[in-house]
Amino acid sequence: MNKFDVIVIGAGASGLIAAGKASEYGLNVCLLEKKSRPGIKLSITGKGRCNITNSADMKEFVSEFGENGKFLFGAFNKFFNNDLIDFFKNLGVDSRLERGGRYFPESDDAHQIVNALIKYAKQNNVKIHTASTVENIVKESNQIKEIVLSNGEVLQADKYILSTGGKSYPLTGSTGDGYKFAKSLGHTIIEPTPALVPIVINSPYLKQLNGLKLKNIEIILLADDKSITKLFGEMEFTIFGFTGPIILTVSSQVYKLIHENKKIEISINLKPSLDEKQLDDRLVRELNHFGNLPVRNMLKTLLPMQLIDIFMKENNIKHTEKCSNINKIMRKKMFDGLTNMKFKVTSTRPIEEAIITKGGVCLDEVEQNTMKSKIINNLYFCGEILNIDGPTGGFNLQAAFSTGYLAGMSTGESK
Ligand SMILES: Cc1cc2nc3c(=O)[nH]c(=O)nc-3n(C[C@H](O)[C@H](O)[C@H](O)COP(=O)(O)OP(=O)(O)OC[C@H]3O[C@@H](n4cnc5c(N)ncnc54)[C@H](O)[C@@H]3O)c2cc1C
Repeated sequence: MNKFDVIVIGAGASGLIAAGKASEYGLNVCLLEKKSRPGIKLSITGKGRCNITNSADMKEFVSEFGENGKFLFGAFNKFFNNDLIDFFKNLGVDSRLERGGRYFPESDDAHQIVNALIKYAKQNNVKIHTASTVENIVKESNQIKEIVLSNGEVLQADKYILSTGGKSYPLTGSTGDGYKFAKSLGHTIIEPTPALVPIVINSPYLKQLNGLKLKNIEIILLADDKSITKLFGEMEFTIFGFTGPIILTVSSQVYKLIHENKKIEISINLKPSLDEKQLDDRLVRELNHFGNLPVRNMLKTLLPMQLIDIFMKENNIKHTEKCSNINKIMRKKMFDGLTNMKFKVTSTRPIEEAIITKGGVCLDEVEQNTMKSKIINNLYFCGEILNIDGPTGGFNLQAAFSTGYLAGMSTGESK
């Protein structure tokens, strides 16, 4: 039987850093990964560019995670965004700051981040075993006694770190195994649900609009005709509905409201930077300017091409209608069409397509300053398995790296 000081289960963002950190204390660390290579999800993050963190200050950073964010103070106080940037720099990876406070590796290559983490783990002799799926965790009273791999092999350690991630993008290896393990060990699992997930819209126009990106727009999420959230930014039409930053941000709210059987709609304001008078003045100006020319021509100054025919159809504007024929009532309709384009939401895409899993191990059962389980003496958690989820922008990876770092450190400091 193989015996280690620490066994880390799951070689994703949090597990790689946790294993590397624990090994810095001279511990004999084994890192188990079910897939054929470590960090598969990490290698597809940020559209292959890996948005490692965000420049927000700690208070703002934590607030991005909502109510549960304050749990992260423990980990962030030990290892935060600037520490992470220095950490990668020491491993030969320079970072670049982009709009929205997002940090990416200068190479724009997520594989560089994965390779740096593998290098870090190997520096202090972490034994990385790929194609090693943990199937069962055996406990004896309030201690883990051993773990069993799918090939029947039994491994033991003094301490265990569970870093199996969430349930989304299961082809990357994150299939939610950790929730089952944690539950069998006595932990409470807050139901895993999709977050940062595209949403499904009921509209006959999706085929036409597929691929259209709208920038500097505002959306309002409506539940039973009541405004719930307003967001400014960027979104994209897909064949089944909407995606893009502001859509992903509201998606977990959409999921929740749908499951409360609410009628959900999204209203798009294409001209949020103009107030009512400014937009009406603009319409008057454009209509006058285009005079006897078709409205269609004038709309090119206000709308992306893909939207023009749909806009005309929805607002009952004839194909040949001239600008000079548009009266006050029709202009008001056009105004409404530009500022309140409504779409019915039917659902979110499934959790498998979510960027992040909401829910997970209940934070009340984990020590904030060590990541140690309050239920099992020799167990630590880190990463997405915890009941923490943040928005896009590098927040989730920083949470994974920071909690991983702290979990690794805690196993070392308590040896
Ligand atoms: C498409 C996409 C893009 C993203 N982009 C960004 C981004 O740019 N910035 C950002 O901040 N966040 C991003 N995220 C979120 C980020 O990837 C996650 O928050 C992060 O990877 C979580 O790290 P983790 O270590 O908890 O889990 P993971 O990285 O998912 O790692 C868990 C590991 O555990 C392994 N495992 C699971 N079960 C077992 C088992 N039984 N035995 C052995 N091994 C097991 C898995 O194979 C996996 O390798 C993105 C997510 C997706 C899906």
